[in-house]
Amino acid sequence: MSNKIKGTGRREFLQSGLLGTAAAGLTIASTTNVSAQAPPEALEPEVTNDVDVLVVGGGTAGHVAAIQAARAGAKTMLVERGAQLGGASTTGGVSFPGLFDAWGKQVIAGIGWELVKESVELDGGKLPDFAKVPQRHWQNQVLTNQFLYVLLAEEKCTDAGVEIAYHEFPQVVTKTEKGWTVDCVGFGTKRRVNCKQIIDCTGGAEVVGMLGFSRLREEERQPGSYLFRLGDRHEPGRTRLNRLYVHGADSTNSRTVTVANMTGRKSILGKIRKEGKRITHLQPETGFRESYRIEGETLVTVNDYRSGRVFDDAISYAFYPVDLHTKTGVKPKPLKPGTVPTIPLSALIPKGSTNIIVAGRCVSSDQLANSGLRVQASCMGMGQAAGVAATLAAKAGTPPLDVPLKEIHALLREHGQIVPGNA
Ligand SMILES: Cc1cc2nc3c(=O)[nH]c(=O)nc-3n(C[C@H](O)[C@H](O)[C@H](O)COP(=O)(O)OP(=O)(O)OC[C@H]3O[C@@H](n4cnc5c(N)ncnc54)[C@H](O)[C@@H]3O)c2cc1C
Repeated sequence: MSNKIKGTGRREFLQSGLLGTAAAGLTIASTTNVSAQAPPEALEPEVTNDVDVLVVGGGTAGHVAAIQAARAGAKTMLVERGAQLGGASTTGGVSFPGLFDAWGKQVIAGIGWELVKESVELDGGKLPDFAKVPQRHWQNQVLTNQFLYVLLAEEKCTDAGVEIAYHEFPQVVTKTEKGWTVDCVGFGTKRRVNCKQIIDCTGGAEVVGMLGFSRLREEERQPGSYLFRLGDRHEPGRTRLNRLYVHGADSTNSRTVTVANMTGRKSILGKIRKEGKRITHLQPETGFRESYRIEGETLVTVNDYRSGRVFDDAISYAFYPVDLHTKTGVKPKPLKPGTVPTIPLSALIPKGSTNIIVAGRCVSSDQLANSGLRVQASCMGMGQAAGVAATLAAKAGTPPLDVPLKEIHALLREHGQIVPGNA
């Protein structure tokens, strides 16, 4: 059965999204605001950049996308609202990326793996042996040093020629003849970026939302977690952090993120008082598992995911149990032996859009498929594919979906990625 989403009607999509899923409570939201005219004068920029590819969000998927685009020859800019790269993997403290392997062999490599491997080696850590199938999936997650990872990711962006703008985010996005004008703000900075292609790696597809394309969100989302350490010392790259669920955590906007962070920190303070232990480590921000996902040209269902469907336009593999966290915890459901799901390019394309592509946990998928697809190695694989597709699209002056799949696969392989299928 095709997963192409037909029609844009709410009812029609809900039916499509509900097939074989636990999508009850799914809402489709389309937020503000495509601006078709010139941006308001108040946004008159102090800095202007003309680039081929603009990546918004430098998290798990975003920095990989930017490095890939720049290495493939695109003039690339990366706008990140925080102070460092890595997103959930570093600022969120989830520094145990997985899964790069499945059933005894590596299935995701490329730029994400290059960074993870190099950070472990430089830190004197230990890499898992992918030839061995572990008893439990998490045993092949790679324990990384989040601080070293931040440094390396920034170095690789700089070496590739990516221009990074921290502490900034888009305020108005305007369609132009050749692509987009994106007006960004930061403290003391108004920046205009003229670009041919946007890669939205904000986690919750925020640029897609600004443009008014349809996004999906559950009424009851998975909880976030706040990561910290009480008692003994945390040794980055060696020990794992403690985590505390933040129910209702919502990464949608600065107000909801503030509430989640304050709720998490308050609970940790309560724990310190109750247990009488010293706090030895505290992340600056909650880790958010779920918010918006795009309604893409294709929607990956949990049936696709569990059956290891190889999509015609597959651009990377993904591997992880179906892993839905609820109010009462999580019971991961492993995939059947031999099963390795794939991610199609069309699930990274907002339905009806041109010249914008997403990567990361906002991939078009139902909630259960997303609970497996959202892990870091998969996000990195998507980021690299988005970087390639956006670069080739910018060069050809076409939307990413019009780039021949063969060319995308060939460039991905040239840059060390493992690609499903034989296109
Ligand atoms: C508690 C927890 C445990 C997890 N456990 C694991 C695990 O064991 N193994 C695993 O592999 N994965 C795990 N995951 C999943 C995984 O870490 C995330 O799904 C993945 O990192 C998401 O990557 P992303 O690039 O989509 O988003 P993120 O890494 O969140 O990156 C988004 C980036 O965009 C930036 N941004 C957002 N909005 C804007 C804006 N408007 N303008 C500019 N910048 C913006 C953010 O600051 C951030 O840097 C876990 C997640 C959580 C929360």
